[in-house]
Amino acid sequence: MHKIDEKLANVTARLQRAADSAGRDEADITLIAVSKTQSAARIREAYECGLRRFGENYLQEALEKQTELADLSDIEWHFIGPIQSNKTRAVAEHFAWAQSVDRLKIAQRLSDQRPSSLPPLNICLQVNIDNEQSKSGTSLSELPEFARQCASLPNITLRGLMAIPAKADTPEAQRGAFTRMHTALNELKQSLGGDHPNAPLDTLSMGMSADLETAVDCGTTMVRIGTDLFGPRTYKEDTQ
Ligand SMILES: *Cc1c(COP(=O)(O)O)cnc(C)c1O
Repeated sequence: MHKIDEKLANVTARLQRAADSAGRDEADITLIAVSKTQSAARIREAYECGLRRFGENYLQEALEKQTELADLSDIEWHFIGPIQSNKTRAVAEHFAWAQSVDRLKIAQRLSDQRPSSLPPLNICLQVNIDNEQSKSGTSLSELPEFARQCASLPNITLRGLMAIPAKADTPEAQRGAFTRMHTALNELKQSLGGDHPNAPLDTLSMGMSADLETAVDCGTTMVRIGTDLFGPRTYKEDTQ
């Protein structure tokens, strides 16, 4: 069994080193533990190591684990998998964040279906930064209008952008996609300006186990780490 405390110490040290060498404050980078395919018991173990933010890709699996872990009431759940229309209600009701919003219809449904007893749902717009057929996400050209429309929806807060870049063989190759994301977020901040109180655009969610250092160097504010915290996944490998 992979020991989460040792793995977490290693990831934290990598983040610290990467932040240092980029001249950034490590406190500006949030760690999301990606717990898809991991059991509720493993998530509890991770919680006991101090982790509080968990990312899930598969709705049914996530809801079952949330029920088992209901006593851990300060967990912040992030939905990071593809969102079809028939999933929006459960995402709106059971998550604090939806990072994989890729079209207006989904954003509208999430806003409509967010319970009034909860604060607005935090969302990121997923960008298909390498224009891959197999991946969801909006294109950079559609992004400004999409973001503008999301910013006017009442029950969501537009926190920023998320991407899963194509696999690259070298950090240099990976850097291109991350840099385009950083630029895209800065451009959105300028174009939306201060007119939208529910669009702080303070989040750039990028960087996974293999490329967190490059992501930190390119300005990420949120890394999503699965394998390097929990060990390799043993079933239902990434569907996208
Ligand atoms: C699985 C997944 C991750 C984590 O990937 P690792 O390589 O295991 O760290 C991050 N983000 C998304 C959207 C994922 O689906």
